[in-house]
Amino acid sequence: MPARRFHCPGCGYIYDEALGEPHEGFAPGTTWEQIPDDWFCPDCAVRDKADFILEGGDAELAAEGEAYAEVAK
Ligand SMILES: [Zn+2]
Repeated sequence: MPARRFHCPGCGYIYDEALGEPHEGFAPGTTWEQIPDDWFCPDCAVRDKADFILEGGDAELAAEGEAYAEVAK
């Protein structure tokens, strides 16, 4: 399965499965399913795992305008 990327709808932070998040203790290759459900965005600390959007997924297409408008500022 190719690595997926998930982004925070609040600040635009991206979690990439291929890269992991060493600062959070997730080694490269750590899948989304392996991340604790109570994990939250390390950048804004506002959004938690359930809020993250799979890049290329239906939810992303629906939220595209709002999320990217924030990132562009
Ligand atoms: Zn965030």
